[in-house]
Amino acid sequence: MTEKQVQNGSSRRDFLKNSAALTALLAIEPLSGYAVMSEKTNGTASRKMNGIQIGAVSFVDEEVNKVLDYLQEQVHINTLFVTVFTYGRGLAGRQIPGQPMPDHGSQESDEKTFHGGNYAIANPAFYTRTVLKETRATEHGGFDVLAALLPEARKRGMQVFASVEDQWRQDVPGITGLRELDLYGRRANTLCLFHPDVKEFWTALVADLCSSYPVDGVLFFNERNGPFLSALGASHFQSIDSSRATCFCDHHKKASIEHGLDFERVKEGYRKLDTFVQQSFRDIRPGDGYYVAFQRLLLDYPEITAYDELFDFGKHQILKNVYTTVKSINKKLKVGFHIEHVNSFNPLFRATRSYEELAGMADFLKVVSYNNCAGERYASFIRNIGSTVFRDVPLELLMRVNNRLLDYSEKEASLDQLPMAGLSADTVFRETKRAVKGANGKCLILPGIDVNIPAGSNSRKASEQDTYEATLAAYRGGADGVILSRKYSEMYLANLRGAGRAIREGNRL
Ligand SMILES: [Zn+2]
Repeated sequence: MTEKQVQNGSSRRDFLKNSAALTALLAIEPLSGYAVMSEKTNGTASRKMNGIQIGAVSFVDEEVNKVLDYLQEQVHINTLFVTVFTYGRGLAGRQIPGQPMPDHGSQESDEKTFHGGNYAIANPAFYTRTVLKETRATEHGGFDVLAALLPEARKRGMQVFASVEDQWRQDVPGITGLRELDLYGRRANTLCLFHPDVKEFWTALVADLCSSYPVDGVLFFNERNGPFLSALGASHFQSIDSSRATCFCDHHKKASIEHGLDFERVKEGYRKLDTFVQQSFRDIRPGDGYYVAFQRLLLDYPEITAYDELFDFGKHQILKNVYTTVKSINKKLKVGFHIEHVNSFNPLFRATRSYEELAGMADFLKVVSYNNCAGERYASFIRNIGSTVFRDVPLELLMRVNNRLLDYSEKEASLDQLPMAGLSADTVFRETKRAVKGANGKCLILPGIDVNIPAGSNSRKASEQDTYEATLAAYRGGADGVILSRKYSEMYLANLRGAGRAIREGNRL
């Protein structure tokens, strides 16, 4: 289908065509288990889930058949994680603005036309108990990515998972009252995970997708951090604004009371944490030093970390709801969760994520171990924590200590070289091994592999060999497969070739 045809997709002819496609879809069953045909050419079955993340735009730009043939035959992909719901550019749309286009697909930026939302056709009957009803992605006209993809994927023996991400835009009808409130009562761009309409939406969406289409399951993305780590900027984001930590809305207040927390003490603690961060930026050193002052604040206000745990509780309730909803529709369907990148280099965050606990409510975990873009991201994280809590420690020393805490090799690059060097493939091996051990056989571990994830102009651009080594490292670490990330529309063919070579070798491990 050409882009022009797609954009004119609301005609009666296309409606009939879509109806016919949907009728045909209902006759298709999900593939059972995860033993899928890895290669059309020789029919050898692989027990590994060799996956790739891909958005609707790639099928519109490059045609479903051509993309699937290429991925299966050249990259040895047997599982598609197709972005069905997001308003974010990380998983949907063409290459992000400001980055060069890769060597396939349209070479034109979609900066002005990108919209995001639901790339399948929602059934309104599922959304009666939430105000979030109108979420259709409009940029591809009547194109329904699942209706277009599923029959062709099935013919090739490929599994299809619907990727769903908690990323929003602010003009979605009904969204205003669902937005989080920060410490000073300002609306944030994120939605409150304790709001009944928000909770209901995620359940409705996965119920709709798993009932209306014969998908093999869902991969759920929620990269949200609680207020404690957000206030400290303990992530790879390049800016810190401790006053913007969320959420302090009435739904959170109610939840905090139910969990025995004094909401006023919580807010007081976070205001003091805000003051601590702001004074650190101004080089106002506490008498006992930055770390001791920080530690004392946590002792004086245990509500700070307790409230952060409450945020995670809300987030994990949604994950559990997604899991039980999908299983109630069909026990054979699989549910996986994306574990955010910060987990691989932030020990404070890592302490809040038990693989064994997460494995108890998932069929697979996508453990993000993006090693190339990790160079600049990890450097940002070190600079962030080195500007507040660990301000008394020289940054290079702080990173060396942190490397030891994370069980990274001594051979990783120095802080000033890190963006250009990236992290080594060895970190992918170590992160995979840790996750496999942590999950303890309760679920599959599918490391997220960095294939040309955009990085700054002074950061490393991964070669074919880099991608090959990182992908193979995951299999050597005991992975049950991989998920090439973040989206096909930003990947270069040479790097995909490298990943494909490693998948072929990894299948034999
Ligand atoms: Zn809230």
